[in-house]
Amino acid sequence: MSLKFYQPLELTEAVELLTSSPGVGKLLAGGTDLVLHMREGKVKPDFVVDLSKIQELRFIKSEAGLIRIGSMTTFTELHTSPLLRERVTCLAEAAGFVGSPQIRNQGTVGGNIANASPAADSVPALVALGAVVKITGGAGTREAKLSDILVGAGKNNLAPDEIITEVYFSEPNPVAVSAFVKLGRRKALAISRISVAVLVALDSPGEKVIEARIGLGAVAPNPFRVTTGEAALLHRGLTPEGMEEAVEAVCAEASATLGNRASAVYKKAAVRGVAREALARVYRNLTEGGRQHA
Ligand SMILES: Cc1cc2nc3c(=O)[nH]c(=O)nc-3n(C[C@H](O)[C@H](O)[C@H](O)COP(=O)(O)OP(=O)(O)OC[C@H]3O[C@@H](n4cnc5c(N)ncnc54)[C@H](O)[C@@H]3O)c2cc1C
Repeated sequence: MSLKFYQPLELTEAVELLTSSPGVGKLLAGGTDLVLHMREGKVKPDFVVDLSKIQELRFIKSEAGLIRIGSMTTFTELHTSPLLRERVTCLAEAAGFVGSPQIRNQGTVGGNIANASPAADSVPALVALGAVVKITGGAGTREAKLSDILVGAGKNNLAPDEIITEVYFSEPNPVAVSAFVKLGRRKALAISRISVAVLVALDSPGEKVIEARIGLGAVAPNPFRVTTGEAALLHRGLTPEGMEEAVEAVCAEASATLGNRASAVYKKAAVRGVAREALARVYRNLTEGGRQHA
């Protein structure tokens, strides 16, 4: 069977194509992962449904206490969004760290989630924020926690006819400050990336942490939220001791996941450095008042 290519203009049409077309279908968003996978023969679809013309999947908005992002929103759009840069800096920064300008212009948040890479850059911030994913398929629309649909390296639990339409999360506290730090890939050492997203809000006298979120990427099959690190920060001042306890908690979680594999020694040390830097950036931004965007 030769590869068929569809380019629907509406979501309902895309779902119908997935449910009614014969053979194995694949969704195409920006194509930055899928095209490579097809070239490498990892996936061999009979037909491709391109989502790029579906305008209803492309938005970033603040609505009723939620920040909602359409699945076809590109990394460039995330990185340059005034709303995200102001309110969810860690996500805007994470998008800015992705690949090259071309990849950022093409790659989408929906594709980043569905591809389920351990090093997916948008995911540490999104899981830390408790993001929920909205999904539409032949059986209707459902919602699931982002952390529940990622079920291993390169694996999600979406049905073949399901499309991620948006990802949303509660607006962080208006005074929250956040940062994303990523250790880049070092080709010579063949070591994958490590990334940390941190968000902290202090109470109005600036004495106690009232919101803390930490997400860690590239040490486990999927990025995850480090609630033990968050607990180390909460309900006390943002002190060097508290931050160091949080760093140690992040390291302990990373160690538990990394085990004794060859790269573990390096990665554990690297996690400590990356977590420290992320917290230090948040601290500087909170105490010096200036936001520093990567
Ligand atoms: C040179 C290069 C550098 C890269 N650098 C980075 C990096 O620094 N950080 C990073 O995180 N990633 C990086 N990537 C990976 C890639 O760009 C991202 O994962 C990107 O977000 C994928 O999005 P896409 O829109 O291109 O997805 P596609 O390639 O179109 O799709 C990816 C997968 O998701 C499925 N899919 C897409 N959209 C949906 C949807 N709405 N609902 C359900 N399933 C869907 C597709 O069927 C496919 O299986 C890089 C890739 C390349 C080629």
